[in-house]
Amino acid sequence: MNLHFVSVILIILFGTFNQILFAQAKDVSPILPSPVVYKRVKGNLYLPKKLSLNKSEYPENIRSQFDVLLEKFHKLNTVDTTGKAFIRLRKLKNVPKDFYSIAVNDYLLISYSNEKSLFYALESLIQLIQTEDDIKYIPKAFIQDYPKFEWRGLHLDVSRHFFTVDEIKKYLDLMAFYKLNTFHWHLTDDQGWRIEIKAFPKLTSIGAYRDSTVSRHFTSQPREYNKEKYGGFYTQDEIKEIVSHAKQRYISIVPEIEMPGHSRAALAAYPEFSCNNIQKPVPGLWGVYDDIYCTKEESFQFIESILEEVVNLFPGEYIHIGGDEAPKTRWKHCENCQNRIKENNLKNEEALQSFFINRIDRFLSKKNKKIIGWDEILEGGLSPNAAVMSWRGMKGGIDAAKKSHYVVMTPGSHCYFDHYQSKSKDEPLAIGGYTPLEKVYDFNPIPSELNTNESSFILGAQANLWTEYIPNLKQLEYMAYPRAIALSQSLWCHDRPSYNSFFKTLTETHFLFLDLLNVNYSRSSLKPNIDIASIKNGISIKVNAHDSLDSYKTQIIENDTIVEVFDLKSGQPLSIKSTEKNMTMTDLKFTSTKNNISSGIRIMRHLGLGATTNYITEPNPQYNYNKSLLTDGQYGARPWRGHEWIGFDSSEIVFEIELATKKKVKNININFLKSNGSWIYLPNKVLIYKKRTKRWRLCKSRKVKNEKTKFKINRRIRKLRFVIRTHEQIPTGLPGAGHTPWTFIDEIEFQ
Ligand SMILES: [Zn+2]
Repeated sequence: MNLHFVSVILIILFGTFNQILFAQAKDVSPILPSPVVYKRVKGNLYLPKKLSLNKSEYPENIRSQFDVLLEKFHKLNTVDTTGKAFIRLRKLKNVPKDFYSIAVNDYLLISYSNEKSLFYALESLIQLIQTEDDIKYIPKAFIQDYPKFEWRGLHLDVSRHFFTVDEIKKYLDLMAFYKLNTFHWHLTDDQGWRIEIKAFPKLTSIGAYRDSTVSRHFTSQPREYNKEKYGGFYTQDEIKEIVSHAKQRYISIVPEIEMPGHSRAALAAYPEFSCNNIQKPVPGLWGVYDDIYCTKEESFQFIESILEEVVNLFPGEYIHIGGDEAPKTRWKHCENCQNRIKENNLKNEEALQSFFINRIDRFLSKKNKKIIGWDEILEGGLSPNAAVMSWRGMKGGIDAAKKSHYVVMTPGSHCYFDHYQSKSKDEPLAIGGYTPLEKVYDFNPIPSELNTNESSFILGAQANLWTEYIPNLKQLEYMAYPRAIALSQSLWCHDRPSYNSFFKTLTETHFLFLDLLNVNYSRSSLKPNIDIASIKNGISIKVNAHDSLDSYKTQIIENDTIVEVFDLKSGQPLSIKSTEKNMTMTDLKFTSTKNNISSGIRIMRHLGLGATTNYITEPNPQYNYNKSLLTDGQYGARPWRGHEWIGFDSSEIVFEIELATKKKVKNININFLKSNGSWIYLPNKVLIYKKRTKRWRLCKSRKVKNEKTKFKINRRIRKLRFVIRTHEQIPTGLPGAGHTPWTFIDEIEFQ
């Protein structure tokens, strides 16, 4: 779209240049995702109670959805006319795909290129209407719009937790309102099979139900289970109903049938298609299981019969076949699988996985479907039609695009909406990670490593909502919104407005829309960023609001008693000094005077608070650590959230800590994290050295047995060197065996 084209249209619509000159340089559009062009012109268009339109110009589904939203949001209706309508339509040719424009002048003129773009235009129109003293109007403006990426998706895992037909419909309605167009429906996994397959009724009669579900975080020990039977599935009629609901909203559904791994629910129903024929129940614990489909002929026929029915239910071009996290333990000991390797001259079990995916790929190609799978499917070669969903970072996507495969980016760092969205301690339990709104907003699906031609293979991106810790629709909406709007912004917009501008539109306008739509969205993004830095003999805390004029009623609480209350301006530093004697737990509570949202932090004040750390072994930068983390008075969160810990991946770790002054220290406590499932282990041994006349002398050493390891010091110290030794490799039989274990530390308390 060149500028010439824009101005020609503006002149056609508004007559003269003069009016256009009134337009401000940076007009902020109330529409999200933000349109390509939003030009405000002088004046408002006041709306009659009934907006007339020419019914015959609208497909029924578009008109009815527009009517519903118009009534719900603005208490306005449409009425049919055969004469000059208030909302006039014009069809365009030779414009970018899904292009539309809206001219708000003395009436509304919508120009569109296809049905979908007319639908998008009306969704935008709803967002333009404003109310003042019960009067409805639209600021006169010219809008021109079309999407940047073709694949703008949201995923939903219905296996770990089940969502009803009505809940799925609400999820789709919201997607449509924010112009997301691809719904990746994760229908099968270890913990439940959710789609009726007529040829294999036990998939749902047995595979759709589990006897128990793990409570709390799955790494919490001891494990506790909710013993209630849990499950559900969609009948084929219900699937058709949802497919049709999505189609009316111009959303295409990509169903996912996981293989060869994540298949415990299917194998609970039909153990004969596993390697060892042993029947095991549908598991209620999250994780990765060794039992996967066998590669014998009968198993392929089973899967192909399932896909036959799936293909007939879903009209979209892609079928997702999973392909991730498939341990090869069973295949290594299975006669059938080993024969398959020999017969086909395959190198090993990894090549057998590639053989598996290729066979399914050929089967689906014959049915005129393309496969898409998680980035593991790239290992070992793929058919030219196959697309890759890059989840282990961007690398899989980069490799795939360089090999001319289509790619959907969905890296954990920006697109996993099962991660935490604020660092506040009151966020509901999530799997881990930290993906705040601002980070999602910054996401660019096109990595800088790709040239223009390679970039053309990036179809777009999607956010994944894995539901281990999302038990119901309320929590689903909390995790998905408003992050899904930020994602839509990065996929739709050609030239994104600044985050601050987006944030203002989001919180001032769209939070009201979400309220009207009865969405339980998260307000975590309104919480301030709390920065903590070391200062001499303590720490400095800054509460940074999104609105720099905000201030915070601040309470300092010790032993559940408020000891001080004062006002703190956004960005104004607050110092907390280290103690000189006993450790003290201090809580700080900040309540915004603008939006009344509270945030809190808890500081353990100890002798070493704010001490400086000199890392001789660099921590792994993946956990974007902050240098003062080990002595900032805050403990790393448990269960692990992926931040708030210093993480090392080397077998010897060396760092030095220096206190502000020489102090008498009785004990030092080092807090480690143990989370074997994430390959995070306790180290073997810690040695503490003290400097004496230019030489480091060993002062204490001991084996590490617990997450909190205590060292008796009882002397005056200022600077210490810590040497931490881990196992060279994770021992056989434990998760991550053979790799260097991770060591996570926070906090080091000086007592
Ligand atoms: Zn086998």
